Order: sequence, then structure tokens, then C-alpha cells
Amino acid sequence: MAAYEYETHEYDVVVVGAGGAGLRATLGMAEQGLKTACISKVFPTRSHTVAAQGGIAASLGNMGPDSWQWHMYDTVKGSDWLGDTDAMEYLAREAPKAVYELEHYGVPFSRTEEGKIYQRPFGGHTTEYGEGAPVQRTCAAADRTGHAILHTLYGQSLKQKAEFYIEYFAIDLLMDDDGTCRGVLAWKLDDGTMHVFAAKTVVLATGGYGRAYFSATSAHTCTGDGGGMVARAGLPLQDMEFVQFHPTGIYGAGCLITEGARGEGGYLTNSEGERFMERYAPTYKDLASRDVVSRCMTMEIREGRGVGKDGDHIHLHLNHLPPETLAERLPGISESARIFAGVDLTKEPIPVLPTVHYNMGGIPTNYWGEVLNPTQESPDAVTPGLMAVGEAGCASVHGANRLGSNSLIDLVVFGRAAAIRARQVVDPETAVKAPAKAAIEKAFDRFDTLRHAKGGTPTAELRIEMQRNMQADAAVFRTDKTLAEGMEKMQATAAKMSDIHVTDRSLVWNSDLMETLELDNLMPNALATITAAEARKESRGAHAHEDHPDRDDENWRKHSLAWIEGNTARLAYRPVHLDPLTKEDEGGIEMKKIAPKARVY
Ligand SMILES: Cc1cc2nc3c(=O)[nH]c(=O)nc-3n(C[C@H](O)[C@H](O)[C@H](O)COP(=O)(O)OP(=O)(O)OC[C@H]3O[C@@H](n4cnc5c(N)ncnc54)[C@H](O)[C@@H]3O)c2cc1C
Repeated sequence: MAAYEYETHEYDVVVVGAGGAGLRATLGMAEQGLKTACISKVFPTRSHTVAAQGGIAASLGNMGPDSWQWHMYDTVKGSDWLGDTDAMEYLAREAPKAVYELEHYGVPFSRTEEGKIYQRPFGGHTTEYGEGAPVQRTCAAADRTGHAILHTLYGQSLKQKAEFYIEYFAIDLLMDDDGTCRGVLAWKLDDGTMHVFAAKTVVLATGGYGRAYFSATSAHTCTGDGGGMVARAGLPLQDMEFVQFHPTGIYGAGCLITEGARGEGGYLTNSEGERFMERYAPTYKDLASRDVVSRCMTMEIREGRGVGKDGDHIHLHLNHLPPETLAERLPGISESARIFAGVDLTKEPIPVLPTVHYNMGGIPTNYWGEVLNPTQESPDAVTPGLMAVGEAGCASVHGANRLGSNSLIDLVVFGRAAAIRARQVVDPETAVKAPAKAAIEKAFDRFDTLRHAKGGTPTAELRIEMQRNMQADAAVFRTDKTLAEGMEKMQATAAKMSDIHVTDRSLVWNSDLMETLELDNLMPNALATITAAEARKESRGAHAHEDHPDRDDENWRKHSLAWIEGNTARLAYRPVHLDPLTKEDEGGIEMKKIAPKARVY
């Protein structure tokens, strides 16, 4: 056994993650008098939530008529009928309350002339159950909504005396033999000390796993650590095959070039200089929907018409537009292109690639944020002592596809729900139970093995291999053949974790070791994604399958579950929750309104 000394801390609740979800949960827990710690590997306000620009959805009706039932309908349709009905109702119904709370906490929302919260239109948000006009439902603080929310929630959490452990890296959950979570082991990055956090409830709010792919709009810290910890605890990941792509991330860097660039007249070309979108989508061309444009770009690259020395990306032209237009309408983009691609977009095209933007799948939970441990007999059984919220979790409200501005609201609604639930299940008067010695030793053993790994494959080399596999075979273009080949490649790549090479053995600011731990977390997320995608023989939401182009509700309206066993993922399925929380005659949604139909916009 690896011998490490550690300090022990005791809390009612330990939240892992300080993005929007983690901070909203932390604040709610602390407000209710629970002794709460929040652990984060980066400074709270550097979490990826800070990058969210567009806004947060809630049916406030400040800019015209709106209702939670309409928001719920749009979410059901957006999910391509894979979301859980109870969770989607909870999201839409609680959204206005959660946004007003943010307002009262001090989020500086933009204002209408009457002083109400400003709301903008966003894709897929409608009135009259999709029959009426687009609705202005997305509440915004200029183009810095995530930034505003994160800073406000951090300040409020400090005010409520939540305790922060910043630049602590959570390594593993500490599970009892009976499947109860008793805490988490963490490594303090700046001095190398080790910490056991014993808690009555652990909340995972670790964000998405965009970095399993070569190109992602998310931060380098989005490595699915929560999913990795859950997989190692013998629990499944849900609906991992559903990954949302944005057509124009900057090649290599991944940072987002907004759809507004094409809105202003930008267009895409291949290595022959052809405006290929005219061929695929004669009417909307470069402004066809996100998934369509992403798929066409990928086909051009696969057929050998990509640009660059490896022929692996596409050009986005804005250089034909007047420089005044660019300076006035797209100042942020001009700066991003210069910094991240070294391109002066008044003169040259920007290299772009369909880029992972959001993970619909994650750790399965109910709408209280309690993590599920599903079995055939009880598909909704919960794991005592463990919750998950935010992009790391899967409640599931986004199903097969997330609507824009529905993630920020998911963070605050379910972060808040987890706190409400914790008050019911966590007794602040009882003593904290110590995690089992065996669980602590097991976590240290894995850490120590990676720390002293002296195989033949450096972490960076294996990471890029995984990212290239996923980008090539589990991206927007999916066929039986690419998925089967990709799954085999990923299994071989995952097996190489046993041949990993770590150069730095120290415990203080060892970024080599931290990146290796992150890679060990990305790997199960990637394996679950490609395996669940290979198995799903239909097209639904973000999972567009060339060989099975139609949605198949009879056989496939079900959640996938993936347990990681060695270097493979074992799959099973659980039913979608079809029943809403509120019956029709109690003011709930009319069930016939949300019956499955074709998803056309
Ligand atoms: C560029 C961009 C723009 C977006 N714009 C919008 C938008 O306008 N509207 C919208 O609704 N959605 C938007 N999204 C999506 C949305 O922002 C994210 O889904 C959401 O912010 C995720 O929040 P989170 O709290 O779950 O995780 P994050 O904000 O990613 O935070 C994760 C936290 O977990 C911590 N953590 C992770 N692993 C560990 C570990 N091992 N140990 C300790 N701590 C750990 C990190 O330190 C961090 O604090 C956007 C996403 C991107 C990438």
C-alpha cells in the first residue's frame, strides 16, 4: 500500500466544483445552515461557466407572453423526446424563481426600458407549443451572463460562510462496501498535501468532458473528472452518445467563433476554394442549422477536401466584408482570430473545425440531483450520500440535444434543488461517519501508481491519440463502420493507460501528474461515449447516424447506461420518465401537447 499522510476534514456537505452548478449548490447548502465545503481545482471564477455569453432561459414573459408550459414543450422537443418529463417540468416551472433569486443575489442583468430583466430570442424557444412566434426567453447580462452569475454566486457563498478549498484536485470518491458515498480524497496542488473530506453528502459539479475531443469550445479543465470518479466507483454514465457540436471553433484552439460571423455574411470553403454549403443546403447555405453545417464540413474533410497541411479543417471567410463592418459588429471575433489563429481576418480566412460544445450525457440523477444506481428491477434506485449537478450530471433535461441558454438555467435550478433535498436527507446534528480505510487506501494506490508510472507512452501522446480517435469516429459523421472501428481504436487507446509515462514525481505543482489524472478521467467518458453511440441504431438529436437516419421511438426511446469494466464499456438501458409532476387538471401541461412527433423547425 502506498503510504501517504493526510489531513481529515468533516462536513455535512462537500461540493466538488465551483462553476455555476457547484456554487449554486454550495450557496443553497450553506444558507440552510449545513456545514459546507466547496473544492475546486481552479479558482471559482475561472470555471468554464465564466465563458457563457448568450444567457439563461426562463419564462419571465418580460418581452411578450410566455409560460412555463411553453418552455417545457420546447425543452421536450429540443431533447428529441429523450428527456425525463418530470425533470423537464421541474426545470421549466422553477426557472423563473431561480432567475429572480439570482437577481436578488445581485446578478447585474441587462434591463428593459421599464427596468425589467432583458430577454433575447434564442434557437428553439417558441410560443404556443411551437405553433407561435419565437419568444424572447433568454435573460442576459450583456454578452457576459456566465461571468456575472459566477461572480455573484461566489460572493454570496462567501457571505454565507461556505468554506472554499481552492486549487485542490479531487482524486476519488470514498465509497463504503454497501455503496454509500462517505467523502472524497483530494490533493492540494500548491503544497502537495493530501486531504480526506468526510461528508454526509458529496455533490459532484465538475462540468463537462469536452476535452475528450481534439477540438472543444470548453476550457482545458473540462475533463469529466466527476464521470471518471463515478465510473471507478462502479456506477454508470448515462446518454453519453449525445454530444453537441458547434460548426465554427478555431482549429487547434477550439475557441468559439459565434454563429453571428456567418450571420454577417461569412462563408465556408474547402481546399478547392469551393463554397461547398451551396451544394448541400441550396437555400440556407452557410446558415443551415448547427448540426447540418457541422456534418457537411466533416464530409468534405473525410472526402479529402479539407484545408491545411493535414487536410483536416475548413476555412471561414470574412475577409470579403468591409473592415468597418468587422470592427463594428464582430470586434470580439477579430480579437479571437488574431490571438488564437494568428489571423488578420480582414485579409485571410480563419481555420475552423466542428467543435464539441456541450455534453448532454453524464452522471444519471433524479430531479433532486441524487445520483442513480439503476438496476433492472429498480431503474431509479439512488446512491446514498452522492449527488451530481450541472453539465457533469444528467437529470435528464437535455435528452438527445440541448437548447441554447438551457444549460445555465439547469445549473441554478438543479444546484438549488440539490440544496433543498439535502436539507431533507442530511441531519446537521449527527456525527459525520468516517470513510472506510480500505477506500482511502484504494484511492491512494491508484494515485501512487500513476505518479510513479514509467511506461513508454507520455501523457500528452496518449491524450492526443484519444482526442483524434474521438474527433474522427465519434463526432458529427457517424456510420456503423466508423463507430465500430472507432470503438475498437478507443479500447486499444484506453489499454495504453497501463503503459503511461509520468516524468515528474513531485507532489508540488506537478502539472504532468495532474494532466495524467485528468486523462485517466477522460478515458472512461470517451469509452462510454463511443460505445453507446455504436450501439444506438437510430438518429436522435445530436446522434445523427448515416446508416439509421430516422428516429425509432419504439426501440430506442430509452436512456443508455454505460459501466466501465477494464477497457470496455458494458451497456444497459433504463426507461425514459414519461409522467409529468403536475397533472393536466392541476394546471400542468396537456399530455397530448408533448406526444412524440417529428422534430422540424
Ligand atoms: C464557450 C461557451 C459558451 C457557452 N454559452 C452558454 C450560454 O450562453 N448559455 C447556456 O445556457 N450555456 C452556455 N454554455 C454551456 C454552459 O456554460 C456550461 O454547460 C456550464 O457553464 C457548465 O457549468 P458547470 O457548473 O456544470 O461546470 P463548470 O463551469 O465547467 O465548472 C466545473 C468546476 O468543477 C471543478 N472541478 C472539475 N474537476 C475537479 C476536480 N477533479 N477536483 C476539484 N475540482 C474540480 C472546476 O474547478 C470547476 O470549478 C456555454 C459553454 C461554452 C463552453
